[in-house]
Amino acid sequence: MTRMSLVDKLALNKFQVDEGEPHILINYDICKDCHEKYCLLVCPAGLYSEQNGAIIVEWAGCLECGTCLALCKKGALDWKYPRGGFGIIYRQG
Ligand code: SF4
Ligand code: SF4
Repeated sequence: MTRMSLVDKLALNKFQVDEGEPHILINYDICKDCHEKYCLLVCPAGLYSEQNGAIIVEWAGCLECGTCLALCKKGALDWKYPRGGFGIIYRQG
């Protein structure tokens, strides 16, 4: 049996996006004074970026791992799981 790569497994996931109800909100005022910007480094899906000096998260593709919340020591993230029935649907663990 051929083993699937992690990338191939992740490609099987589906997302039920809760349009207009982001489950990650960023306090931009706090980010302005952040020099570490761990969020840009730790997200396994690479959802954080910096655009025109502001931190952006493409929350619709979130794997719900919670890593960004754990690493943002300044408390800039208001993070919660998506509402029931929404978010990622894992197909291969
Ligand atoms: S989200 Fe947290 S880690 Fe990322 S830039 Fe803002 S304060 Fe820094
Ligand atoms: S919870 Fe995980 S996948 Fe979602 S934005 Fe944070 S680090 Fe990325």
